Amino acid sequence: MRDPRYDILFEPVKIGPVTARNRFFQVPHCNGMGYRDPTALATMRGIKAEGGWAVVCTEQVEFHYSSDITPFIELRLWDDRDVPMLARMVDKIHEHGSLAGIELAYNGMNGPNLYGREVPMGPAHLPVATFTYEPVQARRMDKADIANLRRWHRQAALRARTAGFDLVYVYAAHALGFLHHFLSRRYNDRTDEYGGSLENRIRLMREITQDTKEAVGATCAVPLRISLDELMGEGGLYKEEVEDMIGLMAELPDLWDVTIAGWENDSRTSRFAEEGHEEPFIKHVKRLTTKPVVGVGRYTSPDAMVRIVKSGLVDLIGAARPSIADPFLPKKIEEGRLEDIRECIGCNICVSGDFSSAPIRCTQNPTMGDEWRRGWHPERIRARESEARVLIVGGGPSGLECAQALGKRGYGVVIAEAGTSLGGRVTREAKLPGLAAWARVRDYRLQQLHQLPNVETYFDSSLTADDVLGFGFEHVVVATGARWRGDGVGHQHTRPVRFEAPILTPDDLMEGKRPVGRTVVVWDDDHYYMGSVLAELLAGEGYSVTYVTPAAEVATWTRATMEQHFIQARLIETGIAIRTGLTLTAAANGEAQFACIYTRRPSTLPCDAIIPVTGRLPNESLFLALDAHRANWRDAGILSVTAIGDARAPATIAHAVHAGRRFAEELDAPPITGDTVPFKREIAGLEDW
Ligand code: ADP
Ligand code: SF4
Repeated sequence: MRDPRYDILFEPVKIGPVTARNRFFQVPHCNGMGYRDPTALATMRGIKAEGGWAVVCTEQVEFHYSSDITPFIELRLWDDRDVPMLARMVDKIHEHGSLAGIELAYNGMNGPNLYGREVPMGPAHLPVATFTYEPVQARRMDKADIANLRRWHRQAALRARTAGFDLVYVYAAHALGFLHHFLSRRYNDRTDEYGGSLENRIRLMREITQDTKEAVGATCAVPLRISLDELMGEGGLYKEEVEDMIGLMAELPDLWDVTIAGWENDSRTSRFAEEGHEEPFIKHVKRLTTKPVVGVGRYTSPDAMVRIVKSGLVDLIGAARPSIADPFLPKKIEEGRLEDIRECIGCNICVSGDFSSAPIRCTQNPTMGDEWRRGWHPERIRARESEARVLIVGGGPSGLECAQALGKRGYGVVIAEAGTSLGGRVTREAKLPGLAAWARVRDYRLQQLHQLPNVETYFDSSLTADDVLGFGFEHVVVATGARWRGDGVGHQHTRPVRFEAPILTPDDLMEGKRPVGRTVVVWDDDHYYMGSVLAELLAGEGYSVTYVTPAAEVATWTRATMEQHFIQARLIETGIAIRTGLTLTAAANGEAQFACIYTRRPSTLPCDAIIPVTGRLPNESLFLALDAHRANWRDAGILSVTAIGDARAPATIAHAVHAGRRFAEELDAPPITGDTVPFKREIAGLEDW
């Protein structure tokens, strides 16, 4: 059972009129499900409560129709008709004895109001602050607007109480809403009593907090969420100034929830921030108030959690991503099962769901977002339904997840791995600059496999179709991964490019090969992390590197993981030359040739070698050979052969892990024919017309 060192994490914490049963606090986090998938969302939050989080919060909840955050899909509380959807979530959270928190949000000048078509409002006349530079401006709020907004927040707080919430947030963080905008001189140029001095800039936050306490404070706690720094010096909110603000309102809220702004700084990927990276910002807050404090820092280590509570940094361990990767993190600490914790790897694939308005997914936790839709549970899986044995060829993330999930179901499983270690691409990629935490995908699964005597692993086993046919397993899973292409085929070129220059693929570099000369071009037509990471690797080894992409910026897809800005900065700081808007057309005689993607105008760069980071090809020869032997399957005792993960179609590690889980969940279930939708979804209720 629980190690007494961790007892402190299980002490109750009083938050205004309510009490959290322990110190584990799932802070608000977006999930791309929101009002479109309310039951899926309620189920996901309920599982967090089941996993031991004493407080489970919503994402930001739009509380008035005059500020929507379209195209992002969050929850809504525009009128009474939204209450049942929220109450369903509250009920799920209460079922497990946890407190439910709601983050009331009015995005103001963060939202162009694409849905409601109202004119956005903020402290000043300014262009709306979106990621896409919408050609829309927010208008300066007048006194009547402020009075209205206070009334709307109060009405929303009352509705939140009706829905059953125990904590009703005042949200003033992340530069994502009107209150933050009033606090920060970046946005607030007012000359009335809501602008100028610190007292004036916090006036609206104080009034809204007082309103909320008066409305619901007798039964609901009222946390105040604020950002301690915008990381732009005195041009934005900065630590000392925000500490003064907290000092001025120290005892008014029931809880201080402290973050840094913007969201990309708060939820930095592991490539750009370590566990606990916010501690220097948080460290003085508890001296300013007697109210409990919650802060985040992607904490997955219980020792670190104990340290930050004992040292007086925080009272509650805030977590979004660690609770996504492992909804049962608190329970596992409580039950003394630390080795079973599925540690967040800090990749922000979860964030990419929100950015693409798609249900949240997680690299480490393949059940995330599929709890209700597919009936998956992060810790439970139904027992096997046959005596069938399964051969898994390949021990990468898809094979390992498949093996551990099938093993937990009770099937006899053999993993045959061609190499001498497990983890596949994760093991290789974790050695690249900044990606060490990715090895956790392998490590969690190996830890699970150690506990499963019914799963055996064989190394140095590069299997052929004849080998597989000779073994007599009923089910064969081909999880043989993929290899990077060396012929330039990717988004730009759908036919091979003729290279007459030395080519090294990402696999070559990961296998230790290096260019002969010192001048290299990394041609990134993949647009995720690999191109920039390899550029960093080679620059770090003293190569002169030019990073070239047809996109307008480095690693453009990483906008969805909120890393793009950091990656571009790192490449610039590392001295890597960056060329954008160029397509690689040929390479010969020590030169790479390019065409401008807009004008086709040619240009050249000197280079000794080209690193094309473009598409990948599945390692499907084994699968195709087995498929060609279908007629022999019956004699060999084979019922099914399935390619999963990168061996089926290369994608992210999250896709591979999900594919492994999916095979394990669906084995011996009624076959999916494709004629019906194989997951649950909600259909909007039709109005009378
Ligand atoms: P995924 O992301 O789909 O899990 P990976 O590329 O990470 O794919 O892993 C594939 C694994 O399969 C690698 O460890 C590789 O060594 C192994 N492998 C590839 N072909 C064979 C084969 N014919 N027999 C056994 N193992 C194989
Ligand atoms: Fe952590 Fe990545 Fe999962 Fe997000 S997707 S919770 S960052 S492992």
